[in-house]
Amino acid sequence: MSHHSDRPLPSVKHDVIERGDHGISRKQISPNALRVLYRLKDGGFDAYLVGGAVRDLLIGGAPKDFDVATNATPEEVKHLFRNCRLIGRRFRLAHVMFGREIIEVATFRANSDDGSGDREMEGGRLVRDNVYGSIEEDAVRRDFTANALYYNIEDFSVRDFVGGYEDVRHRVLRLIGEPEDRYREDPVRMLRAVRLASKLDFRIDVAAAEPIPRLAGLLNESSSARLFDESLKLFMAGHAEASWLGLETHGLLPALFPDSSAALRADETGGLRRLLLTALRNTDARIREDRPVTPAFLFAALLWPAYAAELASLEAGGLEVHLAQQRAADRVVMHQVQRIALPRRFSIPMQEIWMLQARFPDRRRKRVFRLLSHPRFRAAYDFLELRQQAEPELADEVAFWRDAQELSGDQLSARLGPPRSGGGDPQPSRKRRRRRRRKPASESSE
Ligand code: ATP
Ligand code: MG
Repeated sequence: MSHHSDRPLPSVKHDVIERGDHGISRKQISPNALRVLYRLKDGGFDAYLVGGAVRDLLIGGAPKDFDVATNATPEEVKHLFRNCRLIGRRFRLAHVMFGREIIEVATFRANSDDGSGDREMEGGRLVRDNVYGSIEEDAVRRDFTANALYYNIEDFSVRDFVGGYEDVRHRVLRLIGEPEDRYREDPVRMLRAVRLASKLDFRIDVAAAEPIPRLAGLLNESSSARLFDESLKLFMAGHAEASWLGLETHGLLPALFPDSSAALRADETGGLRRLLLTALRNTDARIREDRPVTPAFLFAALLWPAYAAELASLEAGGLEVHLAQQRAADRVVMHQVQRIALPRRFSIPMQEIWMLQARFPDRRRKRVFRLLSHPRFRAAYDFLELRQQAEPELADEVAFWRDAQELSGDQLSARLGPPRSGGGDPQPSRKRRRRRRRKPASESSE
C-alpha cells in the first residue's frame, strides 16, 4: 500500500507474545465476542480482540466492552451477521448486537492518506477517518501503546507493534508517536490519559504528560457533546476522586470547568475543594456499593464553586436574594454548557438542588413540612451535608434536618413549637394548608 505521511511513523516492531506466555484465556472473553471472532475467521478474514479489553485482561481486570478489529470491510462484516448495523460517520463501524451486548467491529484503519480513502481534516483535527489499512497502520493510529495490543483468534497470541506489552507490564501510559502532534490531532486524548491512569492505576509517561498543561486550552475546540461523554467516564465510573486529582495535577481543570476552577483558586480556606473532593469520594463509594448516582448531583458539586462565586457577586451588587440565586444558576449553566454539553434533564434538577439550599434556614412549621415533602428534598439535604465541608457553621442546620427526617410528624411538630393557626394535625394535606393560609403575600418564595 502506498502512502505518504507528514511525519515519520513510529518504529514498528513485530512482537508476538505466544499463547501461554500472556495469561489471557478464552474463558475471560465474552462468548459473544468469541462468536464474532470465530465467524470472521471462518469467513476467511483476520480477526483480533483489540484495545481496552486486551489491556484489561492482561492486568487481570474485567473489560467493560469487547472490541474487534479485522481486515473485513464494514460491508463484508454486515454480510456475515444478521444482527449487524453499520454506524458512524467519522468512523464507520459495524455493531453486532446480542440482546443488550454490542460487539463493535472495526476495519483496520490507516493514519496516512494516499488520497484514495475517505479522510478529512479540519485545522489539524480529524473529522472523518475512513482510510482502511494494515494491522500495523491500525496499531499506530491508536492513542496509547497499552491500547494497541491485538489478541489473535487464529493462534491465541498477542501481537504488539508499539511496545505496548512491556508498557502494560510496567503500568505506564505512553503515547504512540509525537505527543504534541497526537494531542493536537485530538485534544480529548489528554483527558483519556488522565482518565485511564486513574482507572487503571497506571502512570503517565513523562513525554506524554509534559505537553498537557501547555495544550490544555485546545480542549475548547473539542465538541462539547464529546466532552460531556468523557466527563461522565471521568466522574461516574468509580474513580472520580483520582480523576479530579489527575486533572488538577495536569492543569486540565481550567479548560473543563473555567468558572469553578477560578473560584477554587480564589478560595483561601480550601473549603470548596474539600467539598468537591468529598462529593467525588462519596460518588466513588456509592458506585462501589452499587447505589445509584446521578449526573445532576455530581455537577451540582462540580459547579457549586462557580455558583457560589456568581451568587456572592450578584448579591454584593444589591440584587434581591431570590433573583440573584436564579440568575447565578442560569449564568453558570449558560457558560458551562459551552464547554461541556450538560443536557437539560441534568442541569434543571442540578439548579433545583442549588435553589433548595436557600430554604433550609427557614424553620417555620409549614415551610419545614413542605420542604420535607419536596421530591428533591433528599438530594438537597445530601448536598447541605456536603456544604458543611466548606461552611462548618452549617452544623446546626444539618443536625436539624437530619433529625427532621427521622422524627414522626407529631414529634417534629412538637419540636417546632405550638402551631400558629391551632389544630392538632401535624402534617395537613397540601390542599387544606393552602385554603387555610391567611397571608399568602408573606410567603414570597414560591
Ligand atoms: P475503556 O476501558 O474506558 O473503555 P478503552 O481504551 O477501551 O478504555 P474506548 O473509548 O473504548 O477506550 O476505545 C477503544 C480503543 O480505541 C482504545 O483502546 C484505543 O485503542 C482506541 N481509541 C479510543 N479513543 C481514541 C482516540 N481518541 N485516539 C486514538 N485512539 C483511540
Ligand atoms: Mg473500551
